Amino acid sequence: MSITGIKGMNDILPGEVETWQFLEETARRVFRTYGFAEIRTPAVEKTELFCRSIGEATDIVEKEMYTFRDKSENSITLRPEGTASVMRAFIEHKMYAQDPVAKLYYLGPMFRYERPQKGRYRQFHQIGAEAIGVDDPRIDAQILVMLSHYLDAVGIDELELQLNSLGCPECRPAYREQLLVFLERRLESLCEDCRRRHAANPLRSLDCKVPGCREATADAPAMLDRLCSSCDEHFNRVQGRLQDLGTPYTLNPRMVRGLDYYTKTTFEVVTGKLGAQNAVAAGGRYDGLIRSLGGPPLPGIGFAMGVERLVLLKSQERIAAPRPDFFFAALGEQAESRAFGLMCALQRKGIQAETDLEGKSLKAQMRRAGKLQARFTVIIGEDELARGVAMVRDMDGATQKEIPLAELEESLTALAS
Ligand code: ATP
Ligand code: MG
Repeated sequence: MSITGIKGMNDILPGEVETWQFLEETARRVFRTYGFAEIRTPAVEKTELFCRSIGEATDIVEKEMYTFRDKSENSITLRPEGTASVMRAFIEHKMYAQDPVAKLYYLGPMFRYERPQKGRYRQFHQIGAEAIGVDDPRIDAQILVMLSHYLDAVGIDELELQLNSLGCPECRPAYREQLLVFLERRLESLCEDCRRRHAANPLRSLDCKVPGCREATADAPAMLDRLCSSCDEHFNRVQGRLQDLGTPYTLNPRMVRGLDYYTKTTFEVVTGKLGAQNAVAAGGRYDGLIRSLGGPPLPGIGFAMGVERLVLLKSQERIAAPRPDFFFAALGEQAESRAFGLMCALQRKGIQAETDLEGKSLKAQMRRAGKLQARFTVIIGEDELARGVAMVRDMDGATQKEIPLAELEESLTALAS
């Protein structure tokens, strides 16, 4: 019996991987323009890191983490998201000592034990960015503008940017109390998860997808109406900047996000094209996070995009794999070794070239050249060899010409450029 992969964890095969490479390369290019540098952290961290940052009473920590004991009995967890690891690294390497302002991005696999379905997997990939050390609302706007620039650059449209503010330690506790009282009067209508967690994480009910919970909380008090003056001013300025820059958004006072560390500005980018898995990107401010992980009291804001969801949105357009410039079709030992030598020489120059290594007939070799969509086929048969030439056929224009073998490498190099 053959061994299969793990449920909810996907292979990315040629044909699809070109889209992934395009999404990744565009991220590197766009983020660099805004001064973001890449950071790479391990795929596994101490379990404690995620419990402390994401929060104990969240879906991720309660139900979704891949947590193991290693051979020394340490509890380790496959990262369910990127921000906690980036902050851990930022603190551990005292990056703030060099520069308290850091703009970082990452890309890589994340792991959550969820029910696999379209747009929701157990290993999935995020491309994310974090701007650390700046309070000013202009950085919130900048992060959102960069995100929308990226989504434009990769050609994904019909998206909606939804904004909310979750307040700060000044104004949220009073709101939380108010919400708690509101929920207590409606406990019977809430789902089991919301009931069990209402005291530890009351805000979560606002984000619950269960219809009963949505109905019961339809007229719940909103954080947005209860922001303290500094959160209110911050949020107004973020919106002002976005308006100045012509970046459209809508307010969604019910958006709370599934992670505890968020403060002030939070956002999601949603699409109508992916069914229930409608968020392609999400993020927000996390002003208390770095300090709570043992670092200096520096603010931060960031986002993460789900790459599988971006790929789904791009699935109508196939991004073509690069075509070989040349296919060498050769017949006879001498011609074959000539063709092989030329192919290797061109590859060394960065020119994509292929040949047949199975001793197939000339006809079969031509078919393969067509299948690989080579731009030119270089035919060296016995007759050509005897005359000291190769036949170079332009596969698109269906024209051909003879080139002396002695000039072939030079001519083909010129043709490829
Ligand atoms: P959702 O509401 O879809 O569960 P989330 O709020 O749990 O998303 P975040 O933790 O904010 O998601 O992660 C940011 C982005 O990562 C999401 O907007 C989504 O695009 C993607 N994402 C999250 N979980 C998964 C998953 N299991 N499979 C694929 N993509 C995911
Ligand atoms: Mg989730």
